[in-house]
Amino acid sequence: MRTTWTSHESWAFECLNCSAAWTEELEIRRCADGHGNEAVVYERGGHPCMTPWLDRCCTACQSQNVKALASRPVAHAEVPRARGGEDVAMVFHLRRMHAW
Ligand SMILES: [Zn+2]
Repeated sequence: MRTTWTSHESWAFECLNCSAAWTEELEIRRCADGHGNEAVVYERGGHPCMTPWLDRCCTACQSQNVKALASRPVAHAEVPRARGGEDVAMVFHLRRMHAW
């Protein structure tokens, strides 16, 4: 059984060099194959992109000393496509694992 669910999140970033701050909206697609394996795909504007918290570059000063702040659900985030409490529990588990 495969389970896929998508969250739409707004990530806030802050440059530790020049204090610039901005937000980006990302689609986060998670797939579980039912055997404990899992893939996470981040999309921005419909295109796969790097994980939001890695390899960011400040838009103002080009510094890579950028910190990703906590993400904010935009709307209906974390609603699993497959019904069932297990999926919701898994989402909470994932959030804890990644310290979101
Ligand atoms: Zn900067």
